[in-house]
This record gives sequence, structure tokens and C-alpha cells, in this order.
Amino acid sequence: MPQTDSKSTINSTLKKIWGFDELRKFQVAPISALTSGTDVIALLPTGGGKSLCFQLPALVRGGLCIVISPLIALMEDQTNQLKLLGARAASLTGDRKNIDRILNNASVGALDFLYLSPERLKDPLFIAQAPLLDVRTIAIDEAHCISQWGHDFRPEFRNISVLKSYYPTAVLGAYTATATNEVLADIATQLKIDSGCIHTTSMRRQNLEFEVSTWGDTEEEILLLARELKGSGLVYVKTRNDADRWATRLSSVGLCATSFHAGLEKNIKQKRQRDWISGKVSIMACTSAFGMGIDKPNVRWILHVGAPANLESYVQEAGRAGRDGNPSRCILFQGARDLKKSEARNKEMFPSLKTIQNIYQSLANQGKVAIGDTPIDPTNIDIKESAKNSGCTTSEALASLAFLNSAGHIDLIKNPRSSLGKVKWLGGRNSIVNETTHPTDILASHLMRIGLDMEPISTSAKKLGSELGLAEHVIDSASRTLDAQGRLEWMPQAAEYEVVWPSGRINAKKITLPSSVYADRKDSADKKWSAIQSFISTEGCRSELLDLYFSDDPVSPCGVCDNCTWSSSKTEEKVLSMLRKTHPEGVDAFNLIRKFKAGHKGAVSNILRKLLDGGKIRTKGTDVYVISPNE
Ligand code: ADP
Ligand code: MG
Repeated sequence: MPQTDSKSTINSTLKKIWGFDELRKFQVAPISALTSGTDVIALLPTGGGKSLCFQLPALVRGGLCIVISPLIALMEDQTNQLKLLGARAASLTGDRKNIDRILNNASVGALDFLYLSPERLKDPLFIAQAPLLDVRTIAIDEAHCISQWGHDFRPEFRNISVLKSYYPTAVLGAYTATATNEVLADIATQLKIDSGCIHTTSMRRQNLEFEVSTWGDTEEEILLLARELKGSGLVYVKTRNDADRWATRLSSVGLCATSFHAGLEKNIKQKRQRDWISGKVSIMACTSAFGMGIDKPNVRWILHVGAPANLESYVQEAGRAGRDGNPSRCILFQGARDLKKSEARNKEMFPSLKTIQNIYQSLANQGKVAIGDTPIDPTNIDIKESAKNSGCTTSEALASLAFLNSAGHIDLIKNPRSSLGKVKWLGGRNSIVNETTHPTDILASHLMRIGLDMEPISTSAKKLGSELGLAEHVIDSASRTLDAQGRLEWMPQAAEYEVVWPSGRINAKKITLPSSVYADRKDSADKKWSAIQSFISTEGCRSELLDLYFSDDPVSPCGVCDNCTWSSSKTEEKVLSMLRKTHPEGVDAFNLIRKFKAGHKGAVSNILRKLLDGGKIRTKGTDVYVISPNE
């Protein structure tokens, strides 16, 4: 298509499907490249409109667009939005029957967009149908997940380049809001795309006012501040428990708050998300599990309780404020206690080699695997038990498993279907069971025979399956049916991991980790941690520091962050005048400090100290007062 034709097709499609009048400036180049068949790697700010960057070219190019996305929630959101626009879209999720149906639709040209997770690329159903699909566009959302130098590396993303061999004539676009130059280059290498295809734009979000507060007690300061903040906001915390506790605490001071984290049931998550998006609930206390792909324009403030592990996560989370372009506040709180906690957590992510060896030993013990053995059966493991036996925390044990897995010493399977659990037969001994070959009946009569005296028995779908000569998934669905009928109770164990031994088990002391698995990643994590600590301690413009971290583009101060708006001399004058005019009798020092914005409190407190040392003010108890000139 000649350049001008393609440009007018792009604009008319934009208007016809989306109803938008024009592309955003930074969307123009990546959209016209992809449309005309050139691969693209694009770094666009959060809310910049990345979806449009591949959806529009895909519609213009015709055929099928495969979109790889890391989260089911993201896929569902986007397919729903596309359907509302009148495009034909589906996510490749759900049971076999559904997947089969969707793939059939795709293969007969009844779909414009097919969203799938990178794991699905290995699904035999997908592999079988892949040659039948007329794929002309491949898009990778949240593409930083490809790079282990990124902040959210997902090993499954490494598999994506097979798509290029399936569809050599398709064009490929990879999109992210958070990637350093190093990560962008790595994405290009991994996808075998020329680095000349990288498009970047200024990541500056002029309406975001960054502030950092290291002063006072984080909890107290946030509870006071949250009452003054207007509109919708998010409070990012570190753990699921923290999210629930913060929601309770914020509610107890009269605010309308709820919580969100990965441990909640799907329908609860959906309800809370809806309530927050609609404004029915104004504050969400959440873990990093909340926010990806959420398109709420009027988020007015984002608070962080403690620093995230890196600036990439911070920018992504803080970037959820102010998508509508109106001024919004992003305030990071890191008190002394928060810092200590974060440092402890960072340490847990990289357990010592000794701990990792101990965990390996405990896996071998749990599976009764001798040195040299390569058992055929996987070992169901109890992670808490492993942690206890190895004298480490559960987080360290989990991190150790991940390292052992990455180094190829074990294959770690999360949430295996054959998860260990306890089953309790509730059906009594005399219930009538039809003598049929129906799996439900077979399972019922089996449990009736062994599940005497209503004692729960420890087992797994796998074990029951092998006892009854039925496939694991058959047992799985039969036990669900019986559970739904109230005839049995299935109590799965909390932590569910299974370990497969890919090669002979070795002496735990001989376990080593290649530097690409451990040392390099630790180094990268340490660097990322120092980068966010410099964001916290900098006296310069915070937006400028972010610009410099993500690109080499020339920068200028934002004029709105706490450091840009700080003036020592003006604040000193203001403090003195407040003490003279508003509080001639003196005022509680903390309350005086709290009259200033969060990011200035530490500096105001220093000014008070300086005035005190210089004899210009005095204290009485916790009050400060100004000394009158004739004193
Ligand atoms: P990102 O994935 O980059 O965070 P989205 O793709 O979710 O952002 O888009 C954010 C919002 O911007 C969406 O509501 C989208 O409809 C809107 N948008 C994208 N491109 C344009 C445009 N050219 N004109 C107006 N609105 C746009
Ligand atoms: Mg997006």
C-alpha cells in the first residue's frame, strides 16, 4: 500500500472503529510501521494507548492477529473492549471444549483477534491448529516480561519466537511501558528483531506530581493525609495481609476503602474492581496484583507504603494516576521501618547457596529420592515443611525452588492438578451407588469402601486415579461433582507444588547455580534497588531522574515534584511567619510540620531544628514558639 493510502486507511479506521479523531503523536510511527509490515518494539507511557498500536494495524492488515499477554484478566478486558467496538475477538482460555471451539473459529477466519498466554503456545491443541491460522500480525503486550533484565521476567515469554517460525510473513509488534534501553535491546535479541525497529518516546508524564516522604511514622502520616486527598486513589502495600489491614484501617477513619490482592476469589476481585472503577469505593488498598491493564482515567493519587523493588514497578504503579491528564499526586512513603522491611524482603529473594542446597536436600527427603535416582513419579512437596527443615522462611524456600528450577536441577510445577489434599467422605456407607462405569459412581463406591468412619484421608487425584485405573482429570471432575452434591469434602493443601526430577538426584552439596541464574540476577536486582533508593534520596527533580533512568533523552526539571517546588529560604520565612501570626502562643511541632506537603515534611523538620539551634525559636514540651524580638 502506498504511504498516503495507508495513512488515510489508518485515519479512517481510527475514526470508524474507535471514533477518535487522531493518533497521539507517539503512536504515529509505530502504527504506520506495523501496518506497512515492519516489526516494531515500542516503549509508550502507561495509558499512552499501546493496545491501539497493534489493534489498528491488525484490522487494516486483515487476517488474524495473535496477541500474547501475561494475564488472563488483561486478555478478557481487551477482548471485551474489542467486541464492544464490533471486532471479533476471543481469549484462548477455559476448558478443552472451549479452546477447541475458539481455535476452529480462528481457523475458518471468523476472528480478528486471538489472545493467548505464552504457555498456551505449547498446548498440543494450539500446535495442531497453528498451521491453519491466517496470522498476519503478532502482538506482544507487556513485552518486558521477555527479558530477564526487566522487572517482571516470565520464563514462558522466551518461547514466543516460535511464532515467527510458524508465521514467517506475519509482522511482529512488542509493547511495554517500562523498559530500560538494556531491556529494549534484549527484547530485540530475544525476538530476533532488528534493534532499528525500536520506537521510544518521552516517558514524562507532566501531570504527575512526585513526592517522597521519609519523615514520621508512615502509617500515621498516611491515615492523616488520606482524609485530605480528594477523588479516587490507590494505596500500594507489600502483602495480602497488609492490603486487608490497610482497607480496614482506612475505613475505620471514615474513608470508603476496600482491598485487592491475588488471594481473593475471582468474583470478589471483580466486584471490588468494578466498585473502585465506578467511584462507588474511592480507595483501594492493594498489592502489585492490582492495576495492570486497568483503564480508569480519573485516579487522583497513588500512595506507596514502602518502596517497590525497582523503578520499573514504581513507574508502572504510579503511572496509573492521571490518565485523564489532570494533576495527580504520587507519594512514596519510606519510613525507617519500611526500609528495614524491604531490605529483609529483598534478601529473602536471594537465599544463600547453603539454603538452596538445604532445600534441595529437603525435597529429596520428602520424595525419598536417593543420590543417583531419577524417579518417574514427581514429588509432591510441602513447602512449609521444607522451610522448617532447612531453617529458612517460606519466601526463601520458594525463591530457592525457583532458582533450582531455573538451573535445571528440578522441574517445578505449580498448582499441579494432582495436588495433595484430604478427602472426607460424607455420603455414609449405605448410600445407593449404581453399579455403572460412570467415574462418579466408581469413585463414590471406592471412597465408601476406604473412607470408613468419616475420617478424612490424605490422597491426591493422581493417587486415586492410579488406584482406580482412571485418568487424573477424570478423578478431578468426578470429585468436583461429588463435592457439589455434598457427598464428599475435598480439602486441598495450602501450598501446592510438585517437583519432577529431570536427571539423577545429586549430592546437595554439589548443587551450584550458573551466574546467569543467580549472580547476574542478584546483581541486576541490587542495581534496581539502588536506583529506586536514589529516586528517594535525590535532591534533584524526580521526573528528571526517571527520564534519565529509562532513556538518554535530554531532560528538564518538571517544576511540580516536591524537590522542584522546595525552597529552603521561603519555607523558613513561612514557618517564622506562621509562628508569629497564626500561633503566637506556640504550636505542636508535629502539627506545624503537617501543614506542609508530604514530600516537604522532612525538610521542614530540618528547618525547625536549624531555627532551634540558631536560637530563633524555642520548645516547650512538644510545642514550638517563636522568640519575640524583645526577649
Ligand atoms: P496502555 O496499554 O498504553 O496503558 P491503553 O491501550 O489501555 O493504554 O489505552 C489507554 C486509553 O487511551 C484507552 O482508553 C484508549 O481508548 C485511549 N486512546 C488510545 N489511543 C487514543 C487516541 N489516539 N485518541 C484518543 N484516545 C486514545
Ligand atoms: Mg495495556
